[in-house]
Amino acid sequence: MKPVLTSPLAAPACSGATSMGTDQSGELASSKHEEGRRERDRHGRPRPAYQRLLLDLAAGRVDAVVAWAPERLHRSPRELEDFIQLLDETGAHVETVKAGAWDVSTSHGRLVARMLGAVSRAESERTGERVARAHAQAKQAGLWRGPIPFGMQTSDEPGKPEADVAQAPIVEEAFLRVLRGDALTAIARDFNARGLLPRRGQRWSHTGISRLIGSPALGGMVNIGGEFVPAAFDGVVSEQRWRSAQAALVRRPRGEASRPREKLTLLGGILTCAEHGDLLWGGGKIHAAIYVPGAPGGRCHVSITRSAADEFIAQLVIARLRQPDAAGLLSLPSGVRKDVAAETATLEGRRNDLVGLIADGLLTAGSAREQLATLAARLAALQALQHDTPFSEADLIDPSAAWADWTMPQRRTALRLMFTKITLRHTDGRNGPRADPMRVDVIWNDGT
Ligand SMILES: [Zn+2]
Repeated sequence: MKPVLTSPLAAPACSGATSMGTDQSGELASSKHEEGRRERDRHGRPRPAYQRLLLDLAAGRVDAVVAWAPERLHRSPRELEDFIQLLDETGAHVETVKAGAWDVSTSHGRLVARMLGAVSRAESERTGERVARAHAQAKQAGLWRGPIPFGMQTSDEPGKPEADVAQAPIVEEAFLRVLRGDALTAIARDFNARGLLPRRGQRWSHTGISRLIGSPALGGMVNIGGEFVPAAFDGVVSEQRWRSAQAALVRRPRGEASRPREKLTLLGGILTCAEHGDLLWGGGKIHAAIYVPGAPGGRCHVSITRSAADEFIAQLVIARLRQPDAAGLLSLPSGVRKDVAAETATLEGRRNDLVGLIADGLLTAGSAREQLATLAARLAALQALQHDTPFSEADLIDPSAAWADWTMPQRRTALRLMFTKITLRHTDGRNGPRADPMRVDVIWNDGT
């Protein structure tokens, strides 16, 4: 007797298919094919075991198939028709546990098979919609879906995780350090050295810290279609702090985020030559603490003593922040805000288009998943930009103390927010380091 291929035997809920047969020694051999029932699953991924079943049937290696129920063998009319044709060509039999022999050799048998298939497909689609709806409803209600981030744990109420007393302080520290401008790699390295390990995986990494900071649950929020809204549970840090951290990460220039902050100078890469437009950088040597053009051998030889330029800019910032109208200075300038709003609108339109195409059946949710995820990530980043500033109103009470307290990345962020440009003029024919800050000009972001 030829071996028999079987589909879910153990229980209707089983998602795998099992092929059983007798090997040459006469002992029963069995191998489980994971998710082998359908050619492709509902995400469009191929199902190798189902393909093998078709090949075995076509090659005449098996002459009977056993399934739990006829409607569980196929989920699409196309698959069913192919299968019927294969049975027709090979004369193989199908036996089902629930409905007995599945005879597709007569037109009546084929009609029943097709009807069962259609009913089963509708049922499967309804289940999918129900699950998606339940998922969306839970999120609308502010409940958490998905893995619970480090720093939190399940509580008695489903969907409402709570702070994990042991891990929460570590999370709070990570947020504080991001706001202070520490590089993510530095935070990870430090946590590892102190033996503070993540839940899964061996050690913290740049990505691990980045994911941790990005989890909305930690700020007591859920992500509904790319927008962060307050959840039905408390996070580990406040919503304000969470948003500030996202803004700090988005705004930090790429190279700067990975550089140790003690190596940063105040104006390096920000100060430009008024005449040539070259970017000036802080020279590393103590005996030559000057800002000089980055590219050596260029035509620009302008330079200025670092301490003189830094002091001048610091005084300028502090004096400006003391003005009564300073409140808006440390947030995003209106021009950038407009750009952010425009890009947000464009991306939201694109997302709605995709959702519409899926609703109309012109696009499968699986094929659009990646695009939707990319859109959601960019929208979240834009939202972080729009909403927040890494500074607090308390900084305006005593700008001088605030400036002293800020880390170098924070000060540089403040300069980028407050000034469109900071330039340095050449001196009359002399190129050596000069300590004259009157050669420094600024253009304020508010146009003055
Ligand atoms: Zn120059």
